[in-house]
Amino acid sequence: MTRSKLRLAIVGAGPAGIYAADILLKSERNFDVSIDLFDHLPAPYGLVRYGVAPDHPRIKGIITALRDVLDRGDIRIFGNVRFGEDITLEDLKRHYNAVIFATGAVQDASLRIPGIELEGSYGAADFVSWYDGHPDYPREWPLEAQSVAVIGNGNVALDVSRILAKHADDLLPTEIPANVYEGLKSSPVTDVHVFGRRGPTSVKFTPLELRELGELNDVDMIVYDEDFDYDDAARAAVAGNKQVFVIDKVLNQWRQRETGQASRRLHLHFFAKPLEVVDDGTGRVGAFRYERTKSDGEGGVVGTGEIREVPVQAVYRAIGYFGSELPGIPFDHDYGVIPNHEGQVLRHDAETGESGRMYGVYATGWIKRGPVGLIGHTKSDAMETIRHLINDVGNWWSPASPDEQSVVDLLDERGVRYTDLAGWHRLDQHELALGAAEGRTRIKVVPRDEMVDISLGQLTA
Ligand SMILES: Cc1cc2nc3c(=O)[nH]c(=O)nc-3n(C[C@H](O)[C@H](O)[C@H](O)COP(=O)(O)OP(=O)(O)OC[C@H]3O[C@@H](n4cnc5c(N)ncnc54)[C@H](O)[C@@H]3O)c2cc1C
Repeated sequence: MTRSKLRLAIVGAGPAGIYAADILLKSERNFDVSIDLFDHLPAPYGLVRYGVAPDHPRIKGIITALRDVLDRGDIRIFGNVRFGEDITLEDLKRHYNAVIFATGAVQDASLRIPGIELEGSYGAADFVSWYDGHPDYPREWPLEAQSVAVIGNGNVALDVSRILAKHADDLLPTEIPANVYEGLKSSPVTDVHVFGRRGPTSVKFTPLELRELGELNDVDMIVYDEDFDYDDAARAAVAGNKQVFVIDKVLNQWRQRETGQASRRLHLHFFAKPLEVVDDGTGRVGAFRYERTKSDGEGGVVGTGEIREVPVQAVYRAIGYFGSELPGIPFDHDYGVIPNHEGQVLRHDAETGESGRMYGVYATGWIKRGPVGLIGHTKSDAMETIRHLINDVGNWWSPASPDEQSVVDLLDERGVRYTDLAGWHRLDQHELALGAAEGRTRIKVVPRDEMVDISLGQLTA
């Protein structure tokens, strides 16, 4: 079947959604394309804006490349539109030939240990959303703990630990919102303890992110000699893997450093399996209990039976993200992704036991592959999904109202206050101006209504 035009909806204006649109527009094909990009946030860029740490300006700079794609003007943006509420799958079938879901992952994966629900126990994703100024999170974050435990050995655990340990004034040159600066400024924290189940040669974080911790102003890095009694497997990992080699080198440099002068400390505890968040007797976090592990000689660890406890008043679990289910779209509850084959969405009928393609529906990015990998990986992901979308031309939907105005009319009829590219430019300029007034590059606007008002040019001073 030949078609003259593909009307495509992409849900999610994070890197995965933007790269997918860009790749499709630049791809070799024998049909025209018109793309509408929806996001429930009033600003695009997903986790690059609301996940990447504010003191990582180089990574935040990827926004420039993503903005260049949007600024070309050949993709329509509808911000502040939530799939499942403002627009449904039925609507999309009426107006488009196909949809790509690029909705990422924003929730914390759960950690099933006793006490994890205590007051003072938090998910890293929520804290990240707070410090990155996500509009749907409370403005206040309870930073009352002097000693904090961070569970996890990936880059998000390091982000969270770094932001907790860093002095607020050292974050001031970044784009952090005013409420975040004030919150961090009043934090009484002195000790941040990071716990990983495995040894130093099995961590998931990357050397650059680790090395950065050693450069924090007035923060001592504390590592413990007992964690460096390597076995053959660990030694082989250091010798055979460049990344592990550098991590080992950085950690060993810290072992030689003199400590004791700084007002804050960041402790790295390896071979520590989380057992329990201990109640202080009032329903609040009082301590973190863990079991010391040891290498099993094959790259894994086993428990030693030795139980330890560190007094802390807050616990952050940074053990991974998890995707969210979308109305009418299949969802894998074990892995937190949309089931798919190389981006082609699959459905399973529990009653008949039959499974197969869900035609016209595609996935890309973290909701397709799970919450692992860097921004760059979403590009190769998008290429795969777009290749299938193009080849599937005969299986697209046949929409009743494919004209570009009809979806605009639909949103207007429903009273959705959607934002567009011009609106994003307005918000962008506004944030840059807020920053310039205080000698900073940008200060983020946090409340959703204010973001939308500014975008729509309706802000009353
Ligand atoms: C804390 C943290 C730090 C990170 N730091 C780095 C780093 O330093 N370097 C790096 O390379 N990578 C980093 N990453 C990874 C990077 O953020 C991801 O690889 C990337 O953002 C995934 O892209 P995505 O487009 O799939 O999802 P996202 O970026 O999450 O984008 C998904 C978009 O979908 C929208 N959406 C969701 N549900 C709906 C709905 N129902 N309706 C409409 N829109 C919806 C969301 O609002 C969002 O804008 C980090 C990740 C985290 C969590």
